[in-house]
Amino acid sequence: MTILVVGGAGYIGSHMVKMLLGRGYGVTTLDNLSTGYRDAVLGGEFIHGDLADRTLLDKVFSEHRIDGVMHFASFIQVGESVQNPAKYYENNVVNTLNLLNAMVAHDVKRFIFSSSAAVYGEPIRVPIDETHPKNPINPYGRSKWIVEQILADYDRAHALKSVCLRYFNAAGADPDGQLGERHEPETHLIPLVLQAASGRRESVQVFGRDYDTPDGTCIRDYVHVTDLCEAHLLAMDRLLKGGSSAAFNLGNGNGFSVQEMIDTACKVTDKDIQVNDAPRREGDPARLVADATLARKELSWNPCYDELETIVRHAWQWEIAGSR
Ligand code: UDP
Repeated sequence: MTILVVGGAGYIGSHMVKMLLGRGYGVTTLDNLSTGYRDAVLGGEFIHGDLADRTLLDKVFSEHRIDGVMHFASFIQVGESVQNPAKYYENNVVNTLNLLNAMVAHDVKRFIFSSSAAVYGEPIRVPIDETHPKNPINPYGRSKWIVEQILADYDRAHALKSVCLRYFNAAGADPDGQLGERHEPETHLIPLVLQAASGRRESVQVFGRDYDTPDGTCIRDYVHVTDLCEAHLLAMDRLLKGGSSAAFNLGNGNGFSVQEMIDTACKVTDKDIQVNDAPRREGDPARLVADATLARKELSWNPCYDELETIVRHAWQWEIAGSR
């Protein structure tokens, strides 16, 4: 079995490549290295190239027998998507369409898509299940929801089978310490808190203490990157066995507040972390927690790193290695 991992040099994609190799799959990674790192791709074949390049895509699909595609290559910064929607629609939508068209042309019919809880927008009920209305509130979320709808059309028209995995807050790092989160600039809470703990950064900001939550800070559902990758394997397995297209939430169903996250980081790192209060960040819902019952039931997904302390410990292991 050979899987094409698009965006395999990025945070989640690189963990996926490692897991696929460990489970005996053939892996070809395609990445333009715009935000990823070549040294994060721990094996398999690496192709440096862009999804906008249809000639390259045709070459990749002609020269390899690809059994399925996992697509991680997208821009992920919500604020930037509001400032520069073209960047998000061009890469996350148009380039994905290019990839899907190349797949159809070469008769590759299995696709796992990295979607997001951002497709739901401001929740009207929590925990959020897959039937919750899709009202994305920024171009990032809209780009993911547009692709999900394109995938439904491509299933009907071309029998291209897909699984959309709606990640809640991807977090943590490779338990072996070989890989982790390396965003530039970093905007995510856990790496920022840990950088404040290691001294790479002076402090961390808390964006709002006046939310309608027990301690006033936002609540999120953090899910370990390795558990996300397991779900991708199970999703691909579903399609390889002839299963139908579907969309699943991926989260632990446990919400933790920003303050609880900082407290956990203090405990795990045994460091003082300088915290500054800051105004709310635009577009942040108070609570985002997944109901992932469907993924547990239909994919037999069973996250093994659902303890916040474990997630933070693995991320800390990576932060210490990087800041040495
Ligand atoms: N957050 C924060 N300070 C930061 C970064 C994030 O207080 O420096 C908060 C943010 O407002 C949100 C939560 O931490 O409530 C998780 O944010 P992150 O950007 O990690 O993920 P998101 O929920 O936006 O996908």
